[in-house]
Amino acid sequence: MRDISIVGGGPAGSLCGERLASQGFRVTIFDERLAWEKPCGGGLTHKAIQAYPFLLDAPQPKKIVSTAELISGGGHRARFEMRHPIVIYARKVLNGLLLDRAVAAGCNLRRMRVTSIDTAGPRVCLTAAGEEFRSDFVVLAAGARNQLLPETTALGKLDLEMTLGYFIPTAEDMIKVKFLRAFEGYIWSFPRSDHLSVGICAKIGQSSSQQLRGYLEDFMRAEKIPMDGARLYSHVLPSPREHTIQRRKIAGANWAMAGDAAACVDPITGEGLYYALKSGDLLAQALVEGRPQTYPERLRAAFSADLEFAARFARKLFCGNFLGGAITTRMVQLLNYSPAFSDLIRDVFSGAQDYRGLKRRLWDQLGITFVEIVRGLLAAPIAPQSPHLAGGRDRLP
Ligand SMILES: Cc1cc2nc3c(=O)[nH]c(=O)nc-3n(C[C@H](O)[C@H](O)[C@H](O)COP(=O)(O)OP(=O)(O)OC[C@H]3O[C@@H](n4cnc5c(N)ncnc54)[C@H](O)[C@@H]3O)c2cc1C
Repeated sequence: MRDISIVGGGPAGSLCGERLASQGFRVTIFDERLAWEKPCGGGLTHKAIQAYPFLLDAPQPKKIVSTAELISGGGHRARFEMRHPIVIYARKVLNGLLLDRAVAAGCNLRRMRVTSIDTAGPRVCLTAAGEEFRSDFVVLAAGARNQLLPETTALGKLDLEMTLGYFIPTAEDMIKVKFLRAFEGYIWSFPRSDHLSVGICAKIGQSSSQQLRGYLEDFMRAEKIPMDGARLYSHVLPSPREHTIQRRKIAGANWAMAGDAAACVDPITGEGLYYALKSGDLLAQALVEGRPQTYPERLRAAFSADLEFAARFARKLFCGNFLGGAITTRMVQLLNYSPAFSDLIRDVFSGAQDYRGLKRRLWDQLGITFVEIVRGLLAAPIAPQSPHLAGGRDRLP
């Protein structure tokens, strides 16, 4: 297998292409738009920077953010400094950086929309703009809306979230995340080098886009985010269920999916950039070693098992209760009361703590957290960063 076609020049496709071309494969990347402002927060967590340090070192404009604020449905707030900053790119810049690296490694770029693929013959056949292109293997990295589906099914609405948001030409230095009561999703505000990406995500079918827009605009008013020059965006985001991660076919003899097309997205946070890059990378490694059939196992060992774990408790986290209040509210309150819990959330937030290790860490430090909460309640019933803690429906018992 020396000739590889890649459909999609986003993070998954371009990194996969770069890795393959640098090992001597003949790679063609087809993308209908090439570098474009794909609707996205653009936030890269610590695990992405650790795995791909060029994302931090590259001269392209980016914002490095260390401060984050979580806001509960009832308005409680907790602000914290992350040990590992989040690096935020405009997607046009990030995609351009990744595509440039792919071209420098030897990839051939074609600005074309692929309309069909046929994997049944001895060689894969792609059709784009009425022309046919043949290769030994095709990588499908065409994103969450991918409809090129050899021997598999499209992601259904139960495995997708709707997102909408605004790009706003204003400056900010802090990430904000707001939870809504009994709502499976959240609102975010991500500062970029010369604008802000503000948005909301929710399970498809649970709220209309008008409702989502209403929640988002309420948030923007409350946070005094100006609407001047705001550009609206909307896109789907994979939010895979456990059995979708376990059972959906994402590879065959001469094809494989990577990134959003393979639903490689954290079902809680919606983080997909790291998983897109990593899946493209792992697929390239499997092809370089001449063992593409090992790709699903490689994904599982690297992160799928962790994403399955997250999928199991995503709904509980957003909609469940703990000690008589919403879990998300308790989380925000505990951040203010317990330094040990705050450390843990800082690591989850910046991508330095996986979900399976999180369960053990929560148990291990339960005693410390409890002592810190009691000490905090006795010393100062109202913590300085959380003026609402003493009152309201979500008062700590
Ligand atoms: C609103 C929103 C906010 C997000 N925020 C974050 C965040 O802050 N951090 C994070 O880690 N993740 C975030 N994500 C997720 C992240 O955007 C995706 O996981 C990531 O872009 C997936 O990369 P990909 O390469 O798989 O697909 P994509 O980036 O979607 O790239 C697919 C490419 O394929 C091309 N394409 C599609 N169909 C065809 C075709 N038929 N022929 C030719 N080309 C085609 C497209 O033009 C596109 O360039 C967010 C997602 C959304 C929707």
